[in-house]
Amino acid sequence: MQAPISQPVLRVALPVPLRQLFDYLPCVNQPFPLPGSRVLVPFGPRKLVGIVIEVASESAYPMEKLAAVEKYPDEGQAVLSPETLGLLQWCWNYYKHAPGEVVYSALPPRLRKAGGTIPPPPVVYYLTSGGNQRLLQPAGHIKAQFRLLRAIGEGASTAPLLRAVSSSWKPQLARLIEQDWVQSETQSCARLDPSAGPMLNKEQQAAVDAASASLGEFHCHLLDGVTGSGKTEVYLQLLERVLSGGGRALLLVPEIGLTPQLVKRFEKRLGFEPVVTHSGLSEGMRMQAWATARSGRASLVIGTRSALFLPIPDLKLIILDEEHDASFKQQDGFRYSTRDVAVKRAAGLGIPVILGTATPSLETFNNASCGRYSWNRLRQRATGAAAPTWRVLDLRQQNMRGGIAVTAMTAIGETLEQGHQALIFLNRRGYAPVILCHQCGWYASCRRCDANLTWHRASKRLLCHHCDNTARVPAICPHCSADALQGAGEGTEQLEQVLGNAFPQTPLLRFDRDTVRRKGEFERLSDQVKEGQSCLLVGTQMLAKGHHFPKVTLVVIVNLDQALHSADFRALERMGQLMVQVAGRSGRDQFPGEVILQTHYPEHESLLNLLRSGYESFAAELSVERRAACLPPFSHQALLRSDAHDKDEVIGFLNRARDCFPAGEALLYGPFPAMMERRSGRFRWYLLVQAAERRWLHRQLDDWVEKLRTLPAARRVRWAVDVDPQDY
Ligand code: ADP
Ligand code: ZN
Ligand code: ZN
Repeated sequence: MQAPISQPVLRVALPVPLRQLFDYLPCVNQPFPLPGSRVLVPFGPRKLVGIVIEVASESAYPMEKLAAVEKYPDEGQAVLSPETLGLLQWCWNYYKHAPGEVVYSALPPRLRKAGGTIPPPPVVYYLTSGGNQRLLQPAGHIKAQFRLLRAIGEGASTAPLLRAVSSSWKPQLARLIEQDWVQSETQSCARLDPSAGPMLNKEQQAAVDAASASLGEFHCHLLDGVTGSGKTEVYLQLLERVLSGGGRALLLVPEIGLTPQLVKRFEKRLGFEPVVTHSGLSEGMRMQAWATARSGRASLVIGTRSALFLPIPDLKLIILDEEHDASFKQQDGFRYSTRDVAVKRAAGLGIPVILGTATPSLETFNNASCGRYSWNRLRQRATGAAAPTWRVLDLRQQNMRGGIAVTAMTAIGETLEQGHQALIFLNRRGYAPVILCHQCGWYASCRRCDANLTWHRASKRLLCHHCDNTARVPAICPHCSADALQGAGEGTEQLEQVLGNAFPQTPLLRFDRDTVRRKGEFERLSDQVKEGQSCLLVGTQMLAKGHHFPKVTLVVIVNLDQALHSADFRALERMGQLMVQVAGRSGRDQFPGEVILQTHYPEHESLLNLLRSGYESFAAELSVERRAACLPPFSHQALLRSDAHDKDEVIGFLNRARDCFPAGEALLYGPFPAMMERRSGRFRWYLLVQAAERRWLHRQLDDWVEKLRTLPAARRVRWAVDVDPQDY
C-alpha cells in the first residue's frame, strides 16, 4: 500500500480584519512559491492579493475544502524578505492585530494590487557611435525616432525626459535600441562630492564613539541632546562610518520633520541622494522608493513612519529622530509604535539603534535610567549659543490684546526694533475656537462630535477639527436671532490679525495647516524666514520641530494652560516636550534668545521645575509620580476601543468584554467614554487593562481577544485592541 502523499499547504495573510491566516493549495504544475511571495486567491466572491507566510504540510481543514491559488503575480519570487516577515509576525502577535492588515502595511500600495509589479531600476539611455553617425544624416528618418535620437544626443537620458519628446517614445525607442543606435544601462545613484562637516565637540564625539563601538551588535542609544546641540551632526558622522564600510542605514523622522532642507543637508554632506519616502508621495513614487531601497542601490533611506518596514539589504544602523514625537504612533488600523518596532527590528538584525531627542519620552527616559539603553547627553548648543532664558508672564490681571499680554507685545516690539525675528506660538488654528451669542449664550457645535466648531474667519466657515464637518457662519444667532455673534478665545488666524494691527510695517508669516496646505509652501515660508529680515512668525506646533531659524531671538508661548488640567496622564509630559521644543527655536545663532511663557498658573510645581532645572529634572519628577501611581512606563496597558452609532451597544459590548477577561492580576478600568465621546456621529467608549508585568498581560490578551471574537455583542460594534495606547 502506498503512503498517502502529503499535500503542501500555503498559509496566506489576506487583507481582511480577521486575526488568522488562510490555507490554500498551491497552483498545480508551477514551482513552489517562497514565503514572502504574493498570491492571488479567491476569497468568497472576491479575489485578493495575499502573502505566503509559510508552507505547511497539513491543514486544520479537510484538503478537499481548500481552494487553490489562482496566480503568482511575481512567479513565486518573494517580495518580502524573511527578515521583514519575522518582524511583521512579531507585530501581529504583539499588537493583537489581523496579520493581513499588518503585512499590508509593509507592501507599497501598488503591490497590493495583482497587476502591480516591482518596477525595474530606472535606466539611462545614450547614443552608440552608430547612433551618433545616424544623427548626422537627417534624411530618411521616421520623425519621432529622429526627435528621440536628437534629444538623447542632447542629454535627455531618462524615461520622464523622453516621454516629453514624443507620445510614442516607447515603441520608437525600442526600434532605436534594436538598430543599435541607442543603448541603455541601469542608472547609478547620483554621486556628488561629499563635503566635510565641522569638528565635533567633545560631547558629540563621545556619542559617535559610543554608537560606533556597538556597530555589529544590537544596542539602543538614547542621544539626549538639547535643541541645537548638533544631534544631526552626530547622525551624519555615524552614517559616514557605516556607509563607508558598505553598510546601509535607515533614518526615521516625524511627519513634519521630513523637509527638503533636511534631505538636502544629508545629500550635501554624504555626497549622494538618499531615498526618501513618506505617505504623501504618489503610489508610483512610493513604489520606486521601495524598489530602490530593496535593490540596495541606496545607502540611506529617509522616511516617516511608513518607511519602518522598507526592505533594506545589509541594514547596519537605524536612527529615529525626535523619538518622543506623537506621529511615530500609528493611531488607526494597525496601531503600532514606530519607535518600539524599530528597536525590535534592530534587535532582530543585531544592529544598533539611535533614538535622538531633546525631550525623551518617559518610556525612553526610563529605559535609559535603568541602564537598558545607553544615555549620551549633549548639554551644550553646538554653535556655542547659550540656552534661551525664560520669562514667566503671570496672565492674571494683565492687560490683554487678542490673547497676547501687553508686556509680551512690548517685548515683541523691542525684538523687531533690533532687527530680529519673533515667533508667536499657539497650538490652535482658526480665528476663534468658539463662536457664541452674546445675547442668549448659544454656541456653534458640531452635529456629529462633542466639539465646538472653530471659526475660520477669512474663509467665512465654521469647521469641526475632528470630523471636517463645515458650515457657513450664521449672520445672526440661530437661536434668538440677535445680531450678537462673537468669537471667544483665539486661534492663529486671530493672532495674525492682532499682530498685523500692532506692527503694520512688519512682514508676518503664518504657519498652520490652513496656510501650509500646498506642497512646498512650508519651504517657501521658511526660506523667507531664513533670509533673515526682521519679521513675525505665527504658528502651531508645525513651528516647534527642528527648524533652524538663526534670527529668531524671541519666542512667545501664548497658551498651554489646558495641559495643566487635563485628565490625560501624559498631558504634562507632552506639554513639557512642546515647551522645550518651541523654546529651542530661540537664540540658536549669534544673538541670545528669550522665551516668554504666558500662563495663569505661574506657581505650578511641574512648570517651575521644568523652567528652573530643565527637562531631565522635569522628566525625573514625572517618573516618580508615574511610578507611585503605577502608570506606564511602570505598568503596561492595553485599551479595548469600541464605537458605534448606538451608545448602549458599545457599553453592552464592553461590559461583556469585561466579564470575560481572565481573573488575575490585571486592573480593569471602565467602560468609560473617550475624552471626546462622540466623533463623526459614533459613540466611543473604552475598557482599559493594566498590569505590572508585560508578558503576563500579553498572555491574557491573547486568550481574551479570541473570546471577544465569539461574543455576539462584538458583531454590533466596531472594536479594536490598542496595545501600549498613547491617547484615550
Ligand atoms: P540638532 O539636530 O541637535 O538640533 P544640528 O545638528 O542641526 O542640531 O546643529 C545645530 C547647528 O549647529 C547647525 O547649524 C550645525 O551646523 C551646527 N553644528 C553642529 N555641530 C557643530 C560643531 N561640532 N561645530 C560647529 N557647529 C556645529
Ligand atoms: Zn442668541
Ligand atoms: Zn465634528
